[in-house]
Amino acid sequence: LTSPLIDQLIESLCALPGIGPKSAQRITFDLLAKKGQPKGLKLAEILTKTITRITNCTLCQNYTESLPCWLCQNSKRNTSMICVVETPADLLAIEQSNAYSGLYFVLNGHLSPLDGIGPQEIGIPILLNRLKTETIHELILATNLTMEGKATAGYIANQLTPFNIKCTRIAHGVPMGGELEYLDSGTLTHAFHSRITVEK
Ligand SMILES: [Zn+2]
Repeated sequence: LTSPLIDQLIESLCALPGIGPKSAQRITFDLLAKKGQPKGLKLAEILTKTITRITNCTLCQNYTESLPCWLCQNSKRNTSMICVVETPADLLAIEQSNAYSGLYFVLNGHLSPLDGIGPQEIGIPILLNRLKTETIHELILATNLTMEGKATAGYIANQLTPFNIKCTRIAHGVPMGGELEYLDSGTLTHAFHSRITVEK
């Protein structure tokens, strides 16, 4: 409607979660206005930098710009526990609740055979290798309480049979179908403290 470039920018913004056509137009015109240009250029620069430099930690698969990530190399963490979460957003929610001080493993998804996402795609071999090489006493399954999250937790629990590792699941207080990142800190803390042992 205006210019091909402007249309492209609006379309690109529209493709982001939570941004509809109206918001995309507002942002576009705001960035094009004289006083919006510096923040637009800064945004473009940080976006390029972030996307090109952020990678997945080789130990926990969380987003990081240093290897291993700050959580994996933090000596204050309890290194005998690993908490398995689906997304970096879930990890952040748990960190913000202060309910947990151990290590993490981020699946960056869940098992979804129909979409071709199997154990390999979510890093299960990396997780199992950590359990073999590190001294881990407890693995906490903190995947979402959705069908996929539960199936993924069940699969991981089954893989733990050969290991002498306690396997637990956060459950209490987390609503069915609940996605961790949307839970408040109190609910998450409660869910961690009242976690239940899973049969392997
Ligand atoms: Zn890490």
